[in-house]
Amino acid sequence: MQINLISDTVTKPTAAMLDAMMSAEVGDDVFKADPSVNALEEKVAKLFGMDSALFFPSGTMANQTAIKIHTNPGDQLICDKYAHVYNYEGGGVSFNSGVSCKLVDGHRGMMKAEQVQAAINPPDFYHSPLTSLVCIENTTNKGGGACWDFEELKAIRKVCDKHELGYHLDGARLWNALVAKNEDPRAYGRLFDTISICLSKGLGCPVGSVLVGKKEYMDKALRIRKVLGGGMRQAGYLAAAGIYALDHHVDRLKEDHLRAQELGTQLQKSPIVKQVEPIETNIIIFELDEAKCSTERFLEELEKKGIQIIGMGQGKLRMVTHMDYTAEMHDHTLQILASLGEL
Ligand SMILES: *Cc1c(COP(=O)(O)O)cnc(C)c1O
Repeated sequence: MQINLISDTVTKPTAAMLDAMMSAEVGDDVFKADPSVNALEEKVAKLFGMDSALFFPSGTMANQTAIKIHTNPGDQLICDKYAHVYNYEGGGVSFNSGVSCKLVDGHRGMMKAEQVQAAINPPDFYHSPLTSLVCIENTTNKGGGACWDFEELKAIRKVCDKHELGYHLDGARLWNALVAKNEDPRAYGRLFDTISICLSKGLGCPVGSVLVGKKEYMDKALRIRKVLGGGMRQAGYLAAAGIYALDHHVDRLKEDHLRAQELGTQLQKSPIVKQVEPIETNIIIFELDEAKCSTERFLEELEKKGIQIIGMGQGKLRMVTHMDYTAEMHDHTLQILASLGEL
């Protein structure tokens, strides 16, 4: 049995999702004439109670577009030191928008409103870059799938209002947070200027993200997506997968979360595991007791047993549960983890 826990992006479309894709009505979306793309965009805008939405080929392009909407070259954005926009988007912040990042030393990828406040450069001090945007991430990726306290997000909104800063949410795994904390997407729609959400992580689509926001911002998004080369033609085949996923694959994220908890509990019992970070959603980050087993050896042993997981650097290892990680695979993985003490 081959078990891939590297990321929740490794899923393949289900037969029912493929059916929905194959029977999609399509048109040329660059002319805004693809009924399935239009339907997906309307559906997401409505879910969040926001003015409009735009379909993107990737979460990176959706985030990069949002950053470009809210900033001018030379500006600075504020984000946590773990932020995806800073660490994992190829330096696009500077390449695409000519913007730098002021990094905040948060906890598990999450900042406090006071930290955001303190990171703002005074706008009349012309020697410093002009602060124009705050980016947050929910759930946090490098922070181990942690979910924000909504009150803190509201407090950061107040800071943004006071200093006239844009407020963008990288919601690649926002569905996981919504399900884990039983939150309403419309509450997020009321709080943020723009939100990117991903369809190809926990929701199991082959491709796709959506940027949703207020009209004043989204009017610019269409032009920026074009500039970045993200205009797609008969993209309705992909959008149909998104519609299907939103209707059928959101509630089941609970299963991924439960399995992640069970994996964490099993790891915690292992004598070679030093610590497991708190598990809130579908990401498990843990460290080994290197004196007992090196990460290289551990990864090799798991690989031999058919289980792939990923190293995050600095001795941290990561597993991510997802739709294609079945009950059978889960039982098998738990057994293998239980035998790890004998390595
Ligand atoms: C995966 C991810 C993205 C980017 O998504 P891609 O579709 O891979 O470009 C953005 N933000 C976070 C937090 C992610 O985990």
